[in-house]
Amino acid sequence: MLFNLPVKIILGKNVIKENSGEFSGLGSKALLVTGKHSALKSGAQADLLEVLNQNSIDFTIYNEINENPDIESIVKGAKLFNENQCDFIIGIGGGSPLDAAKAISLMAANNLTKDNIYDSNLHKKAFPLIAVPTTSGTGSEATPYSVLTNSETMKKAGFGSPLIFPKIAFADPRYTFSLNETVTRDTAIDALSHLLEGIYSNKNSTILKPFIFEGVKLIIDNLEKCINYPDNYAYRENLMLASVYGGIVIAHTSTTLQHSIGYPLTTVYGLSHGFANGVVMKDIMNLYYEHLNGRLDELFTFLKISKEEFFNWLDKFNLVFNGKISDEFLQTRIPEVMNSRNMALNPLKVNEEQIKNIYLKL
Ligand code: NAP
Ligand code: ZN
Repeated sequence: MLFNLPVKIILGKNVIKENSGEFSGLGSKALLVTGKHSALKSGAQADLLEVLNQNSIDFTIYNEINENPDIESIVKGAKLFNENQCDFIIGIGGGSPLDAAKAISLMAANNLTKDNIYDSNLHKKAFPLIAVPTTSGTGSEATPYSVLTNSETMKKAGFGSPLIFPKIAFADPRYTFSLNETVTRDTAIDALSHLLEGIYSNKNSTILKPFIFEGVKLIIDNLEKCINYPDNYAYRENLMLASVYGGIVIAHTSTTLQHSIGYPLTTVYGLSHGFANGVVMKDIMNLYYEHLNGRLDELFTFLKISKEEFFNWLDKFNLVFNGKISDEFLQTRIPEVMNSRNMALNPLKVNEEQIKNIYLKL
């Protein structure tokens, strides 16, 4: 069994300002990578700027990262990083800015281009990275992955490198108070996917069990409360913990078919990442259940609910796809799913027909 997580995770109220000393020695100029609004709305940027000023650290802000970042935005960020002579990077936001920050760090350090960013042989070094999550979902602050979209082919795919584990993750649940109901739901469902995929993955390991079981429980107990009381600290902290647990889990197990099936639903039909995982969650569990009923029943025993009760709980969140899956989608995207790197980790051999059936049930 292996547990390897080279990220210092500091989770709690006001963690940036209370740990301002952690910023010394990282570098003299930071590139802040974020989305259009999240860094400001969440309050994370204000806290960071105060601490950077205290430490006499200069910075440049790059706030153009869109949801599901495309490779062009990484090229632009790497150029800014080099032109401004930055020497470390701070990602602030949901998974999109955090993944972008990771990819920018690799691209800038290794002079990569949009055509070779996925080539792991070229990933030789990276700049120090700080992650400040503002959603409770991807757990990207605790993973060595970055997921990018090719805007020409509309193919979404991730890569992993130990070099892009953040050095420090500052996880302050207060930054998630400003999330609306939809993003709160979708991102929590993403975290739930990661935890369940830790059970499904071939790399499943007993050492991860406490994170998986406790994380699923935290989501079941706190998601509705966060939706109803968005600025309740205790509920938000529980969801953020679950999200970090999800990141810790997939850092070891990677994701599986559930994510591979979800990616084209995002690129073609515009479903948010977490929602795309959510609409197939029950069908994926049913597909795997026969092979993994021992592991899954142990989870349900821990949760003190049955699989059906879990499905009833999920149904409350209206995770329903209202579009229509086209023939063209099936023709072009099923081969993409079959060839995705996550497929190697499935607990059983999955064929094209089974993937088609899941899409057609939507
Ligand atoms: P996101 O795409 O980062 O953000 C979704 C939306 O929420 C954006 O409009 C964003 O605004 C807004 N938002 C974020 N934080 C906010 C806050 N505190 N208050 C108000 N609005 C806020 O969503 P995400 O689900 O966290 O990330 C999804 C991405 O992560 C996908 O590309 C997915 O593939 C990837 N992912 C990565 C990993 C990994 O291990 N690296 C794992 C799973 C998923 P702005 O536009 O202003 O930012
Ligand atoms: Zn995910």
